[in-house]
Order: sequence, then structure tokens, then C-alpha cells
Amino acid sequence: MTSPTFPTGSILGYPRIGRRRELKKAVESFWAGSITAEQLEATAAELRAVTRQRLVSLGLGATDSSIPEAFSYYDQVLDAAVTVGAVPTRFSSLVRADGTIDLAGYFTIARGEGQNTPAEMTKWFDSNYHYLVPEIGPETDFHLASDRLIREVAEATTSGYRTRPVIVGPVTFLLLSKASEGAPEGYQPLDRLDDLLPVYAELLAALTAVGAEWVQLDEPGLVSESIDVPRDQVLAATKRAYDALSAVPARPQIFVAAPYGSLDDALAVLDSTPIEAIGLDLVRGTIPEGFHTEKTIVGGVIDGHNIWRSDLAGAFDKLENLRELSPSVAVTTSTSLFHTPHDVNDEPLLSDQLKSWLAFADQKVGQVAVLAKGLAEGKATIQPQLDAASAALNDRHHAVGVRDGAVRAREAALTPADFSRGDYATRLAAQDAALGLPFLPTTTIGSFPQTGDIRKSRAAFANGSITEEQYKEAMRAEIRNVVELQESIGLDVIVHGEPERNDMVQYFAENLDGFAVTQNGWVQSYGSRCTRPSILWGDVSRPSPITVEWSTYTQSLTPKPVKGMLTGPVTILAWSFVRDDQPLGETANQVALALRDEIADLEAAGIGIIQVDEPALRELLPLKKKDHAGYLDWSVGSFRLATAGVADRTQIHTHLCYSEFGVVIDAINNLDADVTSIEAARSKMEVVPDIQRSGFGRGIGPGVYDIHSPRVPSIDEVTDLIEIALGSIPERQVWVNPDCGLKTRGYDETVESLTNVLAATRAVREAHIHA
Ligand code: GLN
Ligand code: ZN
Repeated sequence: MTSPTFPTGSILGYPRIGRRRELKKAVESFWAGSITAEQLEATAAELRAVTRQRLVSLGLGATDSSIPEAFSYYDQVLDAAVTVGAVPTRFSSLVRADGTIDLAGYFTIARGEGQNTPAEMTKWFDSNYHYLVPEIGPETDFHLASDRLIREVAEATTSGYRTRPVIVGPVTFLLLSKASEGAPEGYQPLDRLDDLLPVYAELLAALTAVGAEWVQLDEPGLVSESIDVPRDQVLAATKRAYDALSAVPARPQIFVAAPYGSLDDALAVLDSTPIEAIGLDLVRGTIPEGFHTEKTIVGGVIDGHNIWRSDLAGAFDKLENLRELSPSVAVTTSTSLFHTPHDVNDEPLLSDQLKSWLAFADQKVGQVAVLAKGLAEGKATIQPQLDAASAALNDRHHAVGVRDGAVRAREAALTPADFSRGDYATRLAAQDAALGLPFLPTTTIGSFPQTGDIRKSRAAFANGSITEEQYKEAMRAEIRNVVELQESIGLDVIVHGEPERNDMVQYFAENLDGFAVTQNGWVQSYGSRCTRPSILWGDVSRPSPITVEWSTYTQSLTPKPVKGMLTGPVTILAWSFVRDDQPLGETANQVALALRDEIADLEAAGIGIIQVDEPALRELLPLKKKDHAGYLDWSVGSFRLATAGVADRTQIHTHLCYSEFGVVIDAINNLDADVTSIEAARSKMEVVPDIQRSGFGRGIGPGVYDIHSPRVPSIDEVTDLIEIALGSIPERQVWVNPDCGLKTRGYDETVESLTNVLAATRAVREAHIHA
């Protein structure tokens, strides 16, 4: 009997949220109780059917296992956890008598219920996607607890397809897990590998029974260096796992995919097991010198992670080179395509020229199909497509706006002095004199609750039913309320509340040259949440001031200092689709120069405090340690370039959140901001010892109010947090502020919480002044 060969062209995964976010809408309706589980399942089945049809129409084979069966209602890591029965103890009542978990239970683990906090969420490799962290302990009872994947493959088989089921591999699953709360000191989830493998074995056998000829096990954990388990243990686990799964009697052929980087030493280990195919990310990664194999190499040469039309000829060359390493070569995407929007042709407002340079998921499938044809039938058969892709690249290279002489000349003329402010002691004295702030100054991070009225005004302006002047007056009215509120609560540094911003990155993208915004370019960020990243396609410059009018209006309402509010270059890059034709650092400096102009204008207009948010600083940190220094160099440099042009008396703030900052605390210090606010309340001030260790000498505001929950912190709670900060950080440096912006909160809880924050601050001020 001959084994099925791996399909010549395939993709690692496809967007699952739907072209019009149908899944998001259905899932949220289910949560709201307005549709039943059966209705939600019907919508999901319809989406899967449409996806299979679409992939065939784009050139994938219907029955050769090239279509990934990679649907998820919420998250692929949660799917794996629920499949293997890894349900945290606090949710054990969700497990039914037969050991299975239903759809409602699945969502409850993701979203929490009552006192039971949801599974923790964290960043998926070097993407903006966030997955749910499984919790594994000695008590975890691994068993096949969900047949969802099996049913989906059966559904495909019944409708005439043969698809390739996709699941997070066992090693990555355990590497991404954390020890459950009751686990003993030093416990690591990877210790449970031998108990987990039989469940994967059972799953593989069941997939064969419903017609799967290939299975895809995703093992991106093998490429990451940000994993706490020692490498030799990771490699040993890889060997044990794939030797064991290969030994399953009636199983599909095994394809292990390693997106997001190089496998390095794990490649030889995988090759030493009896699996049939290995997927390599050849966009981010490379292959160790001298590697040779008898297995199928599946070259991930089409970038699954960005939105550019690839250099197809270059990609085809990479595939031809693979032929020296293996007798069997196939083509795929470097990662799943769920990081990209569906379809460029869904963007009527983008110019035809820009569209000709782009490839969203559907276009990338088309590119894979072309390369597969070339592999099967020879390069000559695809020469016209290779030429067309090269012509598009050439057009992009020479197009107006992609390279702007003035921007480039300005970048080329930069000197070290442009990246540095004067001595801090001098700055501090000038700022103290100019601002006259009290001990323990209080402020917020920028946004105030985004009310329904604000959204209505924005929508009305966008669809032309109110004039620009009416819209601006609505925003000014909002600002007046927010200022009055802050004054009545007693905050020291006032913000305008950001009512005019739909999104902290898109707002700047809409106001800078070099960016385009999409209409339907949604990508899943986590669960049912989607974002619409802007496309940074050309050299960046600022045609005119962006925020100055709002900030000066705000300052006209109050004698207290108003803080201008900007998004930093690293965060603008992190949350956009960035150009791939120059180093990120160069793009970051262009954004920084545009912000530098904005800061100069704010300063000239009398704004004495300017905050430049960089919540994504940690997020872009590369997976490989050897790349850290280079990244931190340009990222920190771009922030400094944006902010270093101001006078000593102007106080620069920055803000960070969403991550643990221990590893980048020195970089944060190097930003040289006068004041840094940082998320800390949720972790009960975990970051404070890191701050102390790094010798932070400037202002620092560890958050004292967790804004991710509607809970109002009590005065005592806030007092304790402030005292923790004061216990390790010199008094003069400490600021009091929430963890992050308030835009997702409601007004009642915000007012109560800020009132408590101020009451706590006053109490601590009293206690310390009298001490
Ligand atoms: N200034 C922004 C706000 O307050 C910061 C948001 C963020 O850090 N994500 O909304
Ligand atoms: Zn924040």
C-alpha cells in the first residue's frame, strides 16, 4: 500500500472569524442569549463550508488534504486544552458525567464566571494574537474530552472533501501551559507529557477513522527562546512525543509545522522520529547548514503574517533550493493566514495601485497555488505569474510616496544629539518650577469612558449626517465634562479624555502620510475581538498638526497642567501592517520624526506635559535572544528621537501595559522619559522590585487601579498599593495613576474608583508629611 503524499500546495490555516465577522457576531449573540447553541453551531458549520469551497476556488485541492481543518470558536490553544480534558479545577463543574465539555462550558473557561477568573491570556509568539494559557498540575485528568475536531473532519468528508485536521502539538501545548495554582514548587507542565500522549494517540486514531489522511500538529513552541523550560528538555520531549505518536497503529500521516522562526537544533530531532513531513518557516527562519532528509519538507515561503504580495520568483528559488535537501518538497505559508484579513478585493476604497501590491489571505492562497503548479509542472509553466509579481514589486519600489526624498534626507542627517535630552537633574528642576506639582502627583493614562454618544457622533460625522463643526462641538462638550470631572475629583494633571479617537493607532494612521486604512481588514486579536490594523506602505510624514487643537482647547478650560497624548512609534508599528522593504528601525524613525514635529507644536502651544504611549514595547521583542539587542536599540532609539527635541521644562511621560516588564525594564529606563506609568495593580505591584533593581531615577507611576475589571478598588486597597511603591521607590519619584486608559469602563465605576484613588493619595500624603 502506498502512503498518501503530502499535497504540493497548502496553507497552515485560514481566518476563521468570517469575511464580515459572522463568527464574532454569532458568538456574541450566543453569549447574550439571543441565539441557541444549535444556531451558533449552524453558523459555524456554514462558515466552514464556505471556507472549504473558497479554498478550492482559489486553487487548493478538495480531496488531497491541502485544506486545513482549522476552525476555532475562540482560540486554538483553548481548543487543544478542552480536547485533552485540561480543565482548570475551578471549572470542573463544567465537565459532564461522560467527561466532555459543551460549548457553553468552553466559553466559560475563556471568559470566567462569578468568582472564577477566566484562563489567563497572553501573546501568541510574535503576533498580535492572544491565546488562553492552559493550567496543568498533578490533578489534571487528561482524557479525550471533546470530539469537535473529529466531527469537523467527518463533516468535511461527508460533503465530499478530504481536509487536514490541525491541532496544537503536545510539546507546544505543554510549553505554553502554566503550572496550576495548587501545583508543587518547581512543577512544570512538560512533566506530564507521558500522560498526555495517549490522548493525542487516541485522537489521531479517531481522525483516521473519519477519513483524515494527514494531520497537522503545530509546534511553534520549538522555535521560541522565550520559554522557561531548558532546551535539552524541550528536545527530549520532542523526540519522545513524535516517536510515540508515530507508533500509533492506524494513524494519519503526521505533518509537524513550526511557524514563527527557525527550528534550529529541533529540526534534526524531528527528523530522527518517524513522522512524514516537516513544515519550516522560511520567511522568518533558516535551515541549519548541511541538513538533509528523506521526509517531505514543506517550505513556508509565503508570509502568513503580513499583507504584501510576495516576490514569487524569490520564493520559488527557495523551494528549488529545498530540492537539494529532500527528494520531496511542497509549498505552504510561513504561518497560518489567520493573522491577515480575508480579501484585498473587499477594499473598494483602496487605490488599485496599492491593491496591486497587497495580498490578504485569499491572494496568498492564490500565490501558494501558483508555486505548487511550478513545483509540479516546472517553472516555465508559471513564468507569467512570476513576472507579474516582479512587476508589481517594481512598481511598488518606484511609486510616488514609497520613497520621499525629504523624509529620507532628514533621516540621513540625524546625529546622536537628536536622540538625547539634557541632564535629568536640570530637567527636574526646570519642571518642578514650571509645573509646581504636589508630592504624589495624580493623573490618568489618557482615555475616559467612550460613551454611546461619542460613538454616535463619530458615526454621524463619518456618514455625513452632521458637519465637521457639529462633530467638533460634540467632542468639545465631552472634553468640558471630562475636565470638570477631573477637577472635581482633584486630579493634578488633566487629560482631555481622547473622545475623538476610535483607536490609538488608527487615529494617527489616518492623520499621517504613508498609511492607508481598510474597511473590512479585520483580524482576530483574541476570542471574538478583532482589530483592523492600518497599512503602513510609504515614507511617513505629518502633513499638519494632529492633536494640538484638542490639547490647547483643553488647556483653555483649566489652570492645571494638561497632558498632551500621543501614541509612540513602536506601538504604531506593532499594531499596523508594516512595510517589508526596509528595516523596521528605519520606519520607526520616520514615525518618530513625525511625532517629534507634533510634540514641538504642542510645546509651542503651551502644553507643558506630553505623554507618548508605548504599551507594545514588550510585545515586539523578538523570539530569538540574539535579536533582542538590535530590537531594543532601534525601539528605544525611536522613542528618544520622538521626544528628545523638547525643552528641559517640558515633562515627557510614557505609558506601558499588557505584559510583564521585568525583561525590558532596562530598556524602559533607557527611554529617558521624565515619568513612566506602568500597569501594576493587577499583579499587586509585581513590577516594583524590578523598577528598584534597575535603578530607575525618574518619575514612576505603578498603576493602583486595575481597569480591566468593573470592580471599584477600596480606599484601603489603593492605600496599600501606594505604600508598597513608597517602600521601594524614593518618595519624590512616585506618581499615582490607574493601570491603563479608562475607555472600556463605565462612568459610574470610573468616578467611584478615581475618587477612592484620590482619597487614598491624600491619606498617604498626610501620613508621610507628618511622619
Ligand atoms: N492613552 C491611552 C489610553 O488611555 C493608552 C492606552 C493603552 O495603553 N493601551 O487609552
Ligand atoms: Zn495601557
